[in-house]
Amino acid sequence: MPEIRVRIAPSPSGYLHVGTARTAIFNWLFARHHGGKFLVRIEDTDTARSDADLIGPILDALKWLGLDWDEEPIYQSQRLDRYKVYVNKLLESGYAYRCYCTPDELEAERQKAMAEKRPPKYDRKCLNRSEAEAKALLEKNTPFAIRLQIPDGETSYDDLVLGKITRQNTEIEDLVISRADGRAVYNMAVVVDDFEMGITHVIRGNDHISNTFKQIHIYRGLGIKQPRFGHLPLILRPDRKKVSKRLGDKDVAEYGKEGILPEALFNFLCLLGWSPKDNRELVRKEELVQIFALENVNAANPIFNEEKLLALNKEYIKLYPDYKLAEIVAPLIVQAGHTTKYWLETRWDYFLKIIGLLKERCRRTTDFVSLSEYFFHAEYRYDQEALEKHRNEKTARALRRLKDRLEGVMNFRKESLEEALNEVALELGVKKGDLIHPTRLAVSGMTVGPGLYDMLELLGKSEILARLQRLIDTIEK
Ligand code: GLU
Repeated sequence: MPEIRVRIAPSPSGYLHVGTARTAIFNWLFARHHGGKFLVRIEDTDTARSDADLIGPILDALKWLGLDWDEEPIYQSQRLDRYKVYVNKLLESGYAYRCYCTPDELEAERQKAMAEKRPPKYDRKCLNRSEAEAKALLEKNTPFAIRLQIPDGETSYDDLVLGKITRQNTEIEDLVISRADGRAVYNMAVVVDDFEMGITHVIRGNDHISNTFKQIHIYRGLGIKQPRFGHLPLILRPDRKKVSKRLGDKDVAEYGKEGILPEALFNFLCLLGWSPKDNRELVRKEELVQIFALENVNAANPIFNEEKLLALNKEYIKLYPDYKLAEIVAPLIVQAGHTTKYWLETRWDYFLKIIGLLKERCRRTTDFVSLSEYFFHAEYRYDQEALEKHRNEKTARALRRLKDRLEGVMNFRKESLEEALNEVALELGVKKGDLIHPTRLAVSGMTVGPGLYDMLELLGKSEILARLQRLIDTIEK
């Protein structure tokens, strides 16, 4: 079996959005599963819409997602001469013809078709010109586009996802393959590139099916082997509109900034249109490479559900090694002003413990920032509602007793701390909760957080005593 070669072909007319990212992932998995090659092609021939400054961010977003490619990216803008060679071949072999119709003529024809409620389609005026007429136009240097002549009959191909698809050729017009300025059109460029790059499987969104039929005729006209085609369902937004750059759908890299781990987004995007058929949601990349099969792609358009992404992200955060989370979170902590880079670097072990304590509670990596301030300094504010609730002499007395008791704890470990708190509660005849909640407020300013005793142990004795005193003072003020 020849080597499998697939590609992702982003157009730099916007950032990498989830639709293209998902297509890239499926191509990458397909290549890795079969031991083939995954390539990148930048489709930047549409100069009006392409922005060279977006190419770097697109490639970076692919890398961030964990995709790697096996050859240098190909740029269509550098290959315009290659396209001309193939256009000329089609012209010479008689599969294509020159079209001298002006844009105005074509527009008038289109309007007429619409008024008569016919689908607009080129009327083959230039194909039907007499030889003498065509010769005269050519000799007068009249500008011309080049069109592919679509034969009669019907066209079928066996889609890797959708099975056999057939179109009547009457539905496919004689498409322009090269414009009057001599530039090949998109469909022509794609065929030449896929052929010269040795692409064996073209896997892309199902909005390209009508292009596929046109491209098949270009392959046939050129007498070259066409790849297998597979069309993926399109990702829909919760409002059921297609995910698109125009509708402002996010740059994939934005998800990283919003606290999503690349592994979680990778896994999540994989489940949009594909499933391992055993109801599992969390499937890691290494396993996905083993089990990915195009046969399991679902034809129905999946909906992008951000809540589900967050649930999966939470699972990935739990599974992530603490040191890797720490590397992601450290700059965010500094940016939020909780502490300095120097402070973190010199207390890295302490920082790793904070990460370990909080990782069960974070849906986003950015949650570490909002949940951790009190680990870095003691100038945090108290949750106002909780403070009001505990602003009474009874609580102050209980906290004072606890403080006195903790002063005597030599081995400041969570087991001894829990024991001490239990004993104080017993002595005071209050419920444990009556002591736990204000203690949490005292040491963190918050009402939620990691296990109280873990927190106390990590913050250490002198810090805890000072913080208890601070709340006592605040209550008694
Ligand atoms: N540039 C096209 C897109 O961004 C990809 C076309 C293809 O994969 O053939 O949708």
